[in-house]
Amino acid sequence: MIIAIDGPAAAGKGTLAKRLAAALGLPYLDTGILYRATAKRVLEAGSDPADVSAALRAVQGLGEADLRRGDLRDAATSKAASQVASIAEVRQALLHFQRHFGGRNGAVLDGRDIGTIIFPHADVKLFVTASVEARAARRHKEFQDRGESVTLDDVIADVQARDEADRTRAAAPLMMAMDATLIDTTEMDADEAFAQALRLVQAKTR
Ligand code: C5P
Repeated sequence: MIIAIDGPAAAGKGTLAKRLAAALGLPYLDTGILYRATAKRVLEAGSDPADVSAALRAVQGLGEADLRRGDLRDAATSKAASQVASIAEVRQALLHFQRHFGGRNGAVLDGRDIGTIIFPHADVKLFVTASVEARAARRHKEFQDRGESVTLDDVIADVQARDEADRTRAAAPLMMAMDATLIDTTEMDADEAFAQALRLVQAKTR
């Protein structure tokens, strides 16, 4: 079984996807990590994330250790991830890994293009979103919990800029698949979002 979860930044996709995967006994892949780790390699090489050949070198050298790093969620890496993610060659280089991951034993994958490009025939497709204010407030709290000081206004600006870049890029833009079900978590807590998603999965796979 393949469950595709897409949506904009900080919509709660990761939390939801992890819980669904645990409940259903499926492997979980956070595909954003692939772009974040690629971006980190570009930044650490002192290169520009918009430079196609630098981004390609970074993605081709990606290894397990890069994906396990604990420092991939800061603002600079997030922005650079969105930049490398707009490069078609980078997306192409990551396509096989994602399909192979899901193809082995099924999986829950979250990202931006899982239901549209990576697994267009996924058994269940969810598009998880929330108002920009709700998403930024949750991301801001995560930063605070990690002891990182950023202002809410900066987080709102970052989330909006990334959404805009992800929606308007030519390569695999963020969009809801025609056959996806929308879950708007603006007024929901994580438990409610999980309960709704689980009901949808059960209804679709019965
Ligand atoms: O999901 P996360 O916020 O970690 O993703 C970081 C960035 O990676 C996104 O802003 C987006 O540009 C890119 N991404 C993508 N396709 C995916 C997952 C992430 O383009 N499937």
